[in-house]
Amino acid sequence: MGFIKDKTLGFFVKTKGLVSDRIYGGIGISFMLHRVLPSELRDQYTINRDLAITPSQLETVILYLQKKGCRFASLDELYDILQSGRKPDRKLICITLDDGYRDNLLYGLPVFQKHNIPVTIYVTNCFPNHTALLWWYWLEQKLHTDHQLRIDTASVSKNYQWTSQQQADALFPEIRTVLKSLPKTEISAAMKETFGKDDAAISRECQDISLTWDEIRQLSGEALVTIGAHTMNHLSLRTLTDAELEYEICTSKQELLEKTEKTDKAIEHFAYPYGAIGDAFTREYSVAKKHFKTAVLNRRGNISMGQVAYTECIPRMPMGQNITPEKLDQMLNGITHFSDHGFMKTIHY
Ligand SMILES: [Zn+2]
Repeated sequence: MGFIKDKTLGFFVKTKGLVSDRIYGGIGISFMLHRVLPSELRDQYTINRDLAITPSQLETVILYLQKKGCRFASLDELYDILQSGRKPDRKLICITLDDGYRDNLLYGLPVFQKHNIPVTIYVTNCFPNHTALLWWYWLEQKLHTDHQLRIDTASVSKNYQWTSQQQADALFPEIRTVLKSLPKTEISAAMKETFGKDDAAISRECQDISLTWDEIRQLSGEALVTIGAHTMNHLSLRTLTDAELEYEICTSKQELLEKTEKTDKAIEHFAYPYGAIGDAFTREYSVAKKHFKTAVLNRRGNISMGQVAYTECIPRMPMGQNITPEKLDQMLNGITHFSDHGFMKTIHY
């Protein structure tokens, strides 16, 4: 199978994506972003720098996609097109931003407004509630300022040490996996203990980085913006009990509805926190399907008309600072999709 796939991939590249586009290009792509930050702010970060794209790079990507004849659409439009069964003439692009960072409003919205681009912002409620455990930033800082880290809970006991920056950077994904898999009952105390944070410090950091509920209401009132749900506490959902899963999903939708009540928009779209197969799979998909029109993953892939049967697991391509016209072409024409998924045209379970 590997040999046939490699041969086919080679053929797709040689035919400049024309053949792969017809089979795997689908009707379009949804992009996953997190933050929009000018270079000087983006450069404060190291390991997490790629969570942010600069406004100028974002604009470059938008202009390129427009030049290629793509049409930017909201998730409602994508959903309606899938339901209609009528393939659109032009490739659709859906832009989505996860978590609820304030920079989405400060630096992202002006770019989207300038080019009339619909966007979805998935808010995780712990951001505006100022209780988010921003451990990916805490871990980055710890790896840069310390030489050891201890995680000690009822279920995990780990001790990490490093002497060089290179070793520290290499540890990030390993520690990330351990932190993400802590059970909900332990996670808050363990994070606070590991990183020496108290509630006041957590709240302060959230205030600096997160959209407030007022700003979320303001965004929800913008014609171009769809507010989506992203759970209460941004946990890896597969670690949760059934009751915890229901709470994380339903309560977040309910609270978003209450907070944006005046704007009279429904909350019908959802993104799985972290969004890989290890974070959300069949059980999570079926709960999301009950409550939302669409739910998006953090898995690369193109959207085919067949996705209508699987609107609870829509793939997304990451869009970061290092995106190039070549990479965009490979995404649009289905080469990236084929490279990841082989002969599977539609992303499903
Ligand atoms: Zn997220």
